[in-house]
Order: sequence, then structure tokens, then C-alpha cells
Amino acid sequence: MRRFFAPAQLTHAPTRELHNGGFTAYAETPERVASILAAIGGASQPADEGDAAIRAVHDASYLDFLRAAPALWRDAGRPGDAIPYAFPIVRRRALDLTRVDALLGRHAMDATTPITADTWTAAYWSGQTALAATRAVVSGDRAAFALCRPPGHHAGADYCGGYCHLNVAAIAAQAARDAGCARVAILDIDYHHGNGTQDIFWDRGDVFYASVHADPATDYPFFWGHADERGEGAGAGATLNLPLPHGTRLDAFRTAQATALSAIAAFAPDLLVVSFGADTWEGDPISHFALTTADYRVLAADIAACGWPTVIVMEGGYAIDALGHNVASFLAGF
Ligand SMILES: [Zn+2]
Repeated sequence: MRRFFAPAQLTHAPTRELHNGGFTAYAETPERVASILAAIGGASQPADEGDAAIRAVHDASYLDFLRAAPALWRDAGRPGDAIPYAFPIVRRRALDLTRVDALLGRHAMDATTPITADTWTAAYWSGQTALAATRAVVSGDRAAFALCRPPGHHAGADYCGGYCHLNVAAIAAQAARDAGCARVAILDIDYHHGNGTQDIFWDRGDVFYASVHADPATDYPFFWGHADERGEGAGAGATLNLPLPHGTRLDAFRTAQATALSAIAAFAPDLLVVSFGADTWEGDPISHFALTTADYRVLAADIAACGWPTVIVMEGGYAIDALGHNVASFLAGF
């Protein structure tokens, strides 16, 4: 299986995030990548395709904001990384926002996702990595792995959040659609619900989104990922959420994943995108499932047995020492 990663993805390194009532060390670190690369034996540099495939998913005004925010923050005399503190809960009309704090609140869903001077570059290359893996699979590879970092599944068309700036799974799925795949499915097995991916494809019938994740009644992102969220309009029935309780082990996770795979099989996709997060591991510092390293091999084999051409994109996973082994176990199982 070909693997892709661009060293420029390492440049995004915020120092802190607002979490549980105070500033804590940023959990989504460049060291995560070092752990994975060491365990899987390296990866290839993706080509630079430009931003057309990114613009096919994200609003132009949001992309302009990601590029401009660090300078606006600096010009306002602020130290450190740009971070929002006020959010437009009620949007009665479009506003012509100029103040950096207003723009940050407009384009962010939380205060855990700082923007640094290098964020755009790292996110851009995370997107190129997803695209390279997609091109490999559309061209005939059985499967490919995109070591995306920053991750993507919390980012929507015009907002960042949950350590995510560009939605790499959505970029991969849309690129596959634009390359001729009529029907694309996304299986999201990160610990957290992929609210951004769900949002992007909410009213579309050509991309099926299925997610196995921690119950939003207890876990981030809180407001999305409930079982009764099924999509709307042309996308009615093309979203499937399977929330699980704290302490979930392999048997229950595997059963939920089988339910997701059955629904995807009924959809009959031409290509599958897997949003893979290893924050379901038993020792993850910010999560509460109990999968073991060996379990990832089982889960990946179940997905591979379905036979769909598959793009695997990296999402979360914060137990750095174990992360590489967990990713290697998943790729071996596939
Ligand atoms: Zn996660």
C-alpha cells in the first residue's frame, strides 16, 4: 500500500489550546507524525496539485481567512497563536467582518484550534497528501494511506475546529467524485464524530457518511453525531451515526462498524474513504474507548473484506508512543 506525507505538514505547531477550563499543551503535535512514520517505514512526498480540489470543498472566503489570520492577529498586537473567543450563535444576516476576533469567531467552532503562521501551509499539504492517495486509488491501487496532519473531520466548508482546518476526507471524497466515481462512501472510525464531514455532505445523495464514535451526550463535538441525524433533502438517509458509550471494547465497536459497512454496501460505492483515528485506543489521553493495538488489525480486515477501492486518511490519536504501532496494526490488517 502506498503511503503519502509531506514534511511541510510538520510546520503547524500551536503551543496551547483552551480545554476543560484552562490552557493546556496542544495535543495534536508534530511528534504524532514521527511516531507513525517510524512504525510504517516512511512515506512518499505528494505532488502539488494547487488548491482547486480544496476549493471544491471549502468556501473561498474561509481559505482567504486561514491565510490572512496570522498577520491580522499580529497587526492587532497579539502574542502567540490566533484563537477566537466570541462566536456568532445567531446569524441573522451576513456581516462584513474585518476585526480579527470577529473573523476568528465566524470561522471557528471552538477555541481548541489555534491558527499559527504555518497553519495554512501545513493544512494545504495535508490536503495534497489526501489527494495523492486518492489519485493512487482512482488510478487502480487497491488502497492507499494518507498521513494527514493536521487532521480534518471536524472542519466544515467555512470553519475550523477540533484541531482540523481543511477537511481531508471530504477533499478526497470530492476529488474521487470529480474523477468519475459516481458514488463515494466515507467510513469515520475516529473516537469523535466527524461533524464537519457530515455537515459538508448533509444534503447530498452522492456521498454516504457513516460514523462510529463516542456518544455526543458525553463527548466532543457534543452538538452532532446523534443517531437521529440522517441527512436532509437529496441526502436524506445518506448519513448514519452509531454512537457508543465510554469503555467500548472490540466486540461492540466491531458490531457497530459491521452495521456501518452493511449500510455502505447497500449504497454500493465506487470508492471508500476511511477517516481513521487511533484515539479509540485504550490508553488515549483524551478519549474513553478500550480498543487494543491488535484490535485495529481486526477492524481493518473487516473493512478490506468488503473489497472497495479504499483511501485511508489519518484523523486523531494522541497517545504518541503507541500511535505508530496502532496505525501500523491497522494498515497490516487492511
Ligand atoms: Zn478524534
